[in-house]
Formats: sequence, structure tokens, C-alpha cells
Amino acid sequence: MEQVKANLYPCAHCEGSGTCKSGANESSCAACIKNNELKGKEHVGLACGTCGGLGMAEPYTERLNKRTKPLLAMGIVFIMLIIVSGLAFTKNPHFTEVLAFATTLIGGIVAYYFAGSKHAST
Ligand SMILES: [Zn+2]
Ligand SMILES: [Zn+2]
Repeated sequence: MEQVKANLYPCAHCEGSGTCKSGANESSCAACIKNNELKGKEHVGLACGTCGGLGMAEPYTERLNKRTKPLLAMGIVFIMLIIVSGLAFTKNPHFTEVLAFATTLIGGIVAYYFAGSKHAST
């Protein structure tokens, strides 16, 4: 089983403080002001928009992985369902075998991602 681990690193934008000071006179930058949905140009001590005020951020690739993997799993489940229903409609002689295989595969994927998302949220 693959271990999905969140490797957090100190946020480059706020230098790990969680507060944006990239603007003039230690004020928050335009991007973070926008992120906090505030108007005006001078805001001091806003939560960093890059890491959401945590001071820690996830590497981009890891965020991408977390997003694409469940999508891929959903895609596989979807395709399997189409194949199974297709075989059922055409009364394919291998239907029961494929159904058993698909059920195992779908069950495995669902169990894996259900358990995976529980661990990742902690
Ligand atoms: Zn930050
Ligand atoms: Zn900022």
C-alpha cells in the first residue's frame, strides 16, 4: 500500500509566519488582500493567502496528486460501471466473471480512497 503523506514546508510567501508582510511597511500584499476579500490597498497583518494563514504549505505536486488520484479512481469506477452495464444489456456470457472482477476492483478503490481521505484530513 502506498503511503500518502503530507510533506509540509514553511510557506515561502509569509516565511512560515502565516501573516503576509510582503507589501510596503510590512503591510499585506495585493494578492493576499484579494484573497481575504478585502478592498483597499493598505492592510497590515492579513492571513497569508498562499497558505491560508497556516505558515505551512503543501508542495504543488502533492496537491496535484491528491486532486488527480481520486479523479482517476472515479474514472475507473465509472468506466467499470459502463462496461458491466454494457455486458448486462448484451447478455454477455462472461458477465458474471466481469461483474465479480469489477465489484472487487470498485470495492477496493472505494475502500482505499475512503481510508486515504480520512488519514489525509488529520
Ligand atoms: Zn504563507
Ligand atoms: Zn501576500
